[in-house]
Amino acid sequence: MKILLVYPIFPETYWSFRHALSFVGKKAAFPPLGLLTVSAMLPKTWERRLVDMNVDSLTRKDIEWADMVFLSAMIVQKQSLDQVVKQCKELGKPVVVGGPFVSTSSDLVPEADHIFVGEAETTLPEFIKDLEDGNPKRIYQAAVRPSLELTPLPDFDLIDINRYTSMNVQFSRGCPFSCEFCDIIEIYGRSPRTKSSEQMLAEMEALRAAGWRGTVFIVDDNFIGNKREVRKFLPELIKWSDRHKSPFSFLTEASVNLAEDDALLELMRQAGFHRVFLGIETPVAESLKEANKSQNTKRDLLESVKKIQSYGMEVMAGFIVGFDNDPADIFEQQIKFIRESAIPLAMVGLLTALPDTQLWKRLEREGRLVHESSGNNTDCSLNFVPKMDREYLVESYKAILREIYSPLEFYQRALDCLSRVKTDTLKWRNVNAASVIGVLRSFTKITLRLGVRDHERIRFWKYLYRILRDYPDRLGNGIALAAMGYHFRKVTEVYCAE
Ligand code: SF4
Repeated sequence: MKILLVYPIFPETYWSFRHALSFVGKKAAFPPLGLLTVSAMLPKTWERRLVDMNVDSLTRKDIEWADMVFLSAMIVQKQSLDQVVKQCKELGKPVVVGGPFVSTSSDLVPEADHIFVGEAETTLPEFIKDLEDGNPKRIYQAAVRPSLELTPLPDFDLIDINRYTSMNVQFSRGCPFSCEFCDIIEIYGRSPRTKSSEQMLAEMEALRAAGWRGTVFIVDDNFIGNKREVRKFLPELIKWSDRHKSPFSFLTEASVNLAEDDALLELMRQAGFHRVFLGIETPVAESLKEANKSQNTKRDLLESVKKIQSYGMEVMAGFIVGFDNDPADIFEQQIKFIRESAIPLAMVGLLTALPDTQLWKRLEREGRLVHESSGNNTDCSLNFVPKMDREYLVESYKAILREIYSPLEFYQRALDCLSRVKTDTLKWRNVNAASVIGVLRSFTKITLRLGVRDHERIRFWKYLYRILRDYPDRLGNGIALAAMGYHFRKVTEVYCAE
């Protein structure tokens, strides 16, 4: 049996990092971890190939080679998913689909032959058996949320690691909180399940043996959802990293209550975490209560960010406008908070009702749902009737983006961040001639783009001067932030053209 695994295209969003990737000669930020994991669950005798359409094009020949095509997608990839399913069906190939989008919207992929709702650890073996018996079903719905101890080591050898800026691994699924707009808890549940430390270290070892050095993204939606297991895993990770001269630095997502746990922060610092994404959402307590985000109302959010930064971790964060309880000055409040928190990479989105979420159900009851979500909370396609005037909300939202990603604001936030986060992610460990040349080439490209061709070049040179004067040991981080700020500005120009 020949299996083609296809990962559909991500549109240009803040998360694509496309404009920044061009500086480092990479095609995508992360490989398709879900498909690599599914591949590892298939019988060893089956041949498999993977096409990540974010780094390669999918050809007719690829599809003709296969006996069956497997696809996985997030909601934001649904347009590309539809096109690929259609193309495969035209060529007479059976199509299997799964992943987060399909799990909440299985009725929206009518042409697929086999649909996986939920996690595949228990249903994929059932499908393989049914296939061998000549009697596969159309829908496979996971009856239980599987233990992650069943999850195999992903087939990392299906990808060319050099096409990506980061590798990714998963430690846990699920989150104990109950934010109203969140689809993670609907898909993965509220009791976080984790892999064992042995499984995680085997994945680290596989990446290290494949030659990877650099950032590893632990993709959990809330890495500290199961603190007891995290506390067991981190000391093992620290020992492993020490043994191998710290080949990786880590990036993950966590809930804001991380700030109250100094011991955990210290373990993360020692393990080499350099960036954490937090769901801050809004500084307005009433809106947080409405969203059932109680973990954010119990603490001073600005102080929490500062605390995490003091452990050498740059904070990235998500912000939302469009809650029913947002006051008229919410836009100014968000800009002020983002400025004062020194969060360079602030992902601000409009509230979106994702399928199956508590928010979706409430808005449906209230008769306020308008259409399905595009999955891209920055494209201004509001899918419900807001309490605030819709046009005012969208225009003021765009004004936030234009303000926070203006070079003046962004460079200042990046400098404030460098003053608080006193480590540089560009560690000169495991360096060889090729990596030095790569870094110098990227530095030249960034300087040419931002310091020569950009109409805001004076601000870039002032920014560079300040880094060299005040934080020369953090130059690598400073330049990387400038590149990402450029990406955010470019995406903002597309979404927020006046
Ligand atoms: S903390 Fe994050 S992952 Fe957990 S429920 Fe809230 S939004 Fe979802």
